[in-house]
Amino acid sequence: MDLLLYNAGEIATLSHGEVSKPLSGIEMADREKLVLDSGNAILISKGIIQKISSQEELIQEFAPDFSDGKSNLVDIIDAHGNAIIPGLVDCHTHLLWTGDRSNEMNMRQNGLSYQEISKRGGGISRTVEATRSATKKHLVNLGKYRISQASMNGTTTLEAKSGYGLSVESEIKLLEASSEIPQDKCNLLPTWLGAHDFPKGKSKDEYIEELISEQLPLVAENKLANWVDVFCEPGWYDLEQTELIVKASKELGLKSRLHVDEFVDSNGLALAAELGSSSADHVGFSNTESRAKAHESNTMQVFLPGTPYVLGKNLGDGINECIENNWNFSLATDFNPNCQTLSLPFVASLATHRLGVDPLAALVACTRNPASTLNSELKLNVGSIYEGGPADINILKSEYLDYWCQTPGLSPIEKTLFSGVPV
Ligand SMILES: [Zn+2]
Repeated sequence: MDLLLYNAGEIATLSHGEVSKPLSGIEMADREKLVLDSGNAILISKGIIQKISSQEELIQEFAPDFSDGKSNLVDIIDAHGNAIIPGLVDCHTHLLWTGDRSNEMNMRQNGLSYQEISKRGGGISRTVEATRSATKKHLVNLGKYRISQASMNGTTTLEAKSGYGLSVESEIKLLEASSEIPQDKCNLLPTWLGAHDFPKGKSKDEYIEELISEQLPLVAENKLANWVDVFCEPGWYDLEQTELIVKASKELGLKSRLHVDEFVDSNGLALAAELGSSSADHVGFSNTESRAKAHESNTMQVFLPGTPYVLGKNLGDGINECIENNWNFSLATDFNPNCQTLSLPFVASLATHRLGVDPLAALVACTRNPASTLNSELKLNVGSIYEGGPADINILKSEYLDYWCQTPGLSPIEKTLFSGVPV
């Protein structure tokens, strides 16, 4: 039976223009073009949005027997006057890993850098040991639990990286575990991140050789990931090594999304733009010239403000620089052992409460914009609400859409539909 979502407050459709493309600058906060006033309803059929129109018109056409909030012709969801936003899109998560690194905060507070903690056996290598010894079943169960947390916070599409195995066997195990997580609450799109760090017991050159001649061919052959990712940062993968890995993956038909310029500006963003990467993530220290270049090359700049937040660092000027210059950007959680949030509303709260970003612009940066980097692997364009689009929809606990990022620590979501089904 079809489903009628009625009694809605504001509806942030975000569907102005070409829905597959991102928005930038003041367009991101244009309420006239992106938001419908209250009084509209949405008709959903077989998981697809069939019609968005005035409530009276939809009731007359599809539920003429409507009375007292009920109809025998369609299922009804009452939004109770609350605002509606698209399902959220998290385009950067390290979904699968195990191991506990909560002892590292004290080291950081005593002045040790990320690099120094790593040298003392903390950081990624600690998680790698625990993840290597975990069974695939355990990882799948962790993934299910984490997806349920993301879903409670409104996420309906999520990218998930491997990268805590750093060996052929364990990187493949992580990607296989991703593929076994049921996609009943959320689309899940895998990225290979075998080049997250270097494993112990191998030289850098030996490991890069393994990545190119063993890991990547297996990933491509078994279609275990849509993208490759490299941790391009001084001390990890340099520009030359990153380029080598991305070019080898391109030959196997894999696209890329890269970790760049998190700690310093090493021209990683410029390299991502040159390589035609779908996205370049962190980009906290990237220079202005690289940002302009990325925009022109359709390489999405993805900011991960949760990471500087947990590291006690400044959130930087990059986001506002992008808004001022009409450059495309997105926000994502970067869920990982040090930054354990799967809440895009929380991440957007950092952007709005700390950096003065308009809540509507922050919403575009957590929906339509990141979706533009993932849509190629989905049947329908996600991240906005439009006729013919997937019914991935959040009903908020407020009549105002701005509420969506103003409850840090609590979910602003009353109800989520994924493919038209309440989750
Ligand atoms: Zn990351």
